[in-house]
Amino acid sequence: MSLPIMLMAGAEEAVSNDIKRIFSSEYEIHAAHNEDEGFNLLNQIDANVMIVALNNSEMDGYQFLENIAQDQRYKKIPILAVIDHGDSEGGERAMKLGAREFVTSPLNETTTRYRLKNIIARAENEDHLQRIAEISRSMELDSLTGLYNRSAFYRHASEMIKSNHEVPYYIVYFDISAFKVINDLFHTETGNVILKTAGRYFRGIINDRVSVLGRIGADHFVICMPQDMLNIDRVIRELDRIMRGLNISQNILFFAGIYPVVDVNLSVDQMCDRASMALNKIKGNYITRYAYYDASMREKLLRDQMIVRDMEYALDDNQFTIYLQPIYRPDENKIVSAEALVRWFHPESGMISPGFFIPVFERNGFIVKLDRFVWESVCKFLRSRLNAGKKIVPVSVNVSRLNFYSFDLLIFLLNLIKKYELEPWMLKLEVTESAYMDNPKQIITVINQFKESGFPVLMDDFGAGYSSFNMLKDIQIDVLKVDMAFVREIERSERARTILQMIVALAQELKMGIVTEGVETKTQLDYIMSMGFVDIQGYYFSKPLPVKDFNELLDKYE
Ligand code: C2E
Ligand code: CA
Ligand code: CA
Repeated sequence: MSLPIMLMAGAEEAVSNDIKRIFSSEYEIHAAHNEDEGFNLLNQIDANVMIVALNNSEMDGYQFLENIAQDQRYKKIPILAVIDHGDSEGGERAMKLGAREFVTSPLNETTTRYRLKNIIARAENEDHLQRIAEISRSMELDSLTGLYNRSAFYRHASEMIKSNHEVPYYIVYFDISAFKVINDLFHTETGNVILKTAGRYFRGIINDRVSVLGRIGADHFVICMPQDMLNIDRVIRELDRIMRGLNISQNILFFAGIYPVVDVNLSVDQMCDRASMALNKIKGNYITRYAYYDASMREKLLRDQMIVRDMEYALDDNQFTIYLQPIYRPDENKIVSAEALVRWFHPESGMISPGFFIPVFERNGFIVKLDRFVWESVCKFLRSRLNAGKKIVPVSVNVSRLNFYSFDLLIFLLNLIKKYELEPWMLKLEVTESAYMDNPKQIITVINQFKESGFPVLMDDFGAGYSSFNMLKDIQIDVLKVDMAFVREIERSERARTILQMIVALAQELKMGIVTEGVETKTQLDYIMSMGFVDIQGYYFSKPLPVKDFNELLDKYE
């Protein structure tokens, strides 16, 4: 093993000989006779320790110490100073300039050995402590804002709440609207400025003795604070003012979800979940900027969990079935089509409406399986009618957006048609603009393949979103299904009627079919028909029916 390295600077012959005698068996010693040599050597060797003799004619040892102290690279090397026997102030001066200890010449072997050992041990200790502090700081603090990071926030907030259990607390969860957009639109540096500014503001409004503040995600800040210290209206107002002051052209809006800590036994993690649940309720709503958690959210969460827990089994257990809602053409007194709508008959909860479980399945991907089940059920239904020698109408199925990410979507559909000996026109595919918004290119390609294969394509909920018209521009759709909201407004709103009129004209111009959904009353029907709509889906004629009932209805019309 190689020896540790010692730099010996400014030592005249007597001192130099002493040092070598004492240390040459333990150190690799390098000698520098003046300052330049000293720095050159420091650059070349990785010195573990330095001995600097101060009373030397060739070199100003004090100056050398001063220069070393200014260089980050060398500051950490422990230094032992050697002063002349007669120099009464030298020791103190050397220590001020960064030497850790001093000895007087001529050197006493025991003392020198002991002092050197001592300063090395001390330096190692300090280094060690500093490293621990750095690591724990980097583990506790978010480096951008200097606030607690997630795990540190959880720990400190938990301690805070427990040690003040008589004080009612809030967990306040802040989120910035469209922060991703801000980051994409501007430089990340802009995003960082926003976060740092917000962090500073939050730090200013909390009292450290009773509150804990952290940044637990990209643009997610959390505060754990006594309830009577929070004036949320003012916080939002102030944040708005400060953010406007940053002069960023994009609106930067903070939203807050607030969980009142009623159950101190909950983990802070769970409390934050609840606060963020409250926050999610107001996402995308620019008027309400904060919301409190309430028990109904928990019920929704539990219901969602039940849905996820039971879904796979439910599908195998045949708890899902299709209902069929007829689509009428009043002028000809005919049923021209139908839409398949899924229903879940849960053994304990009874019938669950798709409004509850479809959004959950769209989040966890199960919708792809369920949709395929629905399509197959429709094919079975059509096949059984054909086998019985009865007339059929084409049936619409919903194609949720996630399906467009399956590479075998078209193959699956074509195989179904083949397996049940049907023709593609019998299965109409309803898509919504949300799929298009996710990934326009992909949707255009897939829908063109549908059409080439002979499947009619419907645009569902037309007019409900933002890109209905963009999608129309890019894709040749067969039928527009106008969103129910228009029909609801039809009696009250002149504008709704005007828009409907234009949609009819557009459909005729582009040679698309057109269906209205949600017609419930005679008045609505009369309006709709007078505008030139021909096909109607709605409770006025029929609710979605069990397959058996729909069969009978079709027979009757035949
Ligand atoms: P959607 O595709 O827009 O389906 C039309 C919804 O409007 C159905 O609700 C239908 O029962 C309802 N409806 C029809 N006529 C009227 C009316 O006159 N008045 C009122 N108030 N409602 C009417 P449902 O069956 O509850 O389905 C809701 C949504 O769930 C559907 O909206 C669709 O987005 C989704 N969904 C249903 N079944 C499936 C499915 O098999 N796959 C997928 N991906 N989504 C489905
Ligand atoms: Ca639909
Ligand atoms: Ca619809």
